[in-house]
Amino acid sequence: MFNIYLIAIIFIFGIVIGSFLNVLIYRIPKGENIAYPPSRCQTCQTPLRWWHNIPIISWIILGGKCYFCKDQISIQYPIIEFLSGLIAVILYFKLGLVWYLPIVFLVFALLLALLVIDFKYFAVPDSLNLLALTLSVINPHFIDSISYALMSAGGLALLRYYLSYLLKKEAMGEGDIIVAGTMGALLGFPLFFYALFLSAILAIVPSLMVKDRMVPFVPFLSIATFIVYIFDNQFIRLANWIIYG
Ligand SMILES: [Zn+2]
Repeated sequence: MFNIYLIAIIFIFGIVIGSFLNVLIYRIPKGENIAYPPSRCQTCQTPLRWWHNIPIISWIILGGKCYFCKDQISIQYPIIEFLSGLIAVILYFKLGLVWYLPIVFLVFALLLALLVIDFKYFAVPDSLNLLALTLSVINPHFIDSISYALMSAGGLALLRYYLSYLLKKEAMGEGDIIVAGTMGALLGFPLFFYALFLSAILAIVPSLMVKDRMVPFVPFLSIATFIVYIFDNQFIRLANWIIYG
């Protein structure tokens, strides 16, 4: 069955990737190089020591404060790291130790980064978005995945034309179309539609709360995709029950 040491290794791998996601989330919207310079405090600009860079643990040891200037370090860092570790472990439980487990994990990790970036900056960087889409078709059913990606992205692009025409304003973002391609590749049909429907439901309340401005849609697409990916059988059963009784 599931090996506890293997789970620990997968969790650690997940949080290390999560630590890198923090770098992407912080630097990509600013147009900075993701590899150089090494991490430094955002307030006092002092380069961090190696032991300040250990995912989750460093934040706890430092009490959420910079070692040098004692300024607050956002709790977003350990949260992203933990979520990334959790996603890796959940995917392992879902898929088992298959060769494409790290790839599927990286796709969801990139979706997590896109979720945070869209939420904070109302932007969806093409670099990460296209990388997620490219990785999402790498699995044993890659011909199917490519077909579903094309149909999903094409379908959403059409939907965007319709909505923009009917609402007489730009509906959805271009980034959403690329994310739809990734969703199609990961889920296939009809699960893609369930995830799209679920994301719309998830977005209702936040949309009503902030009437005056646009609601970023990628966070809802990403969360819905993960939920439907994990509970695929339950969603198929639920849909059959709704349709056929
Ligand atoms: Zn500092």
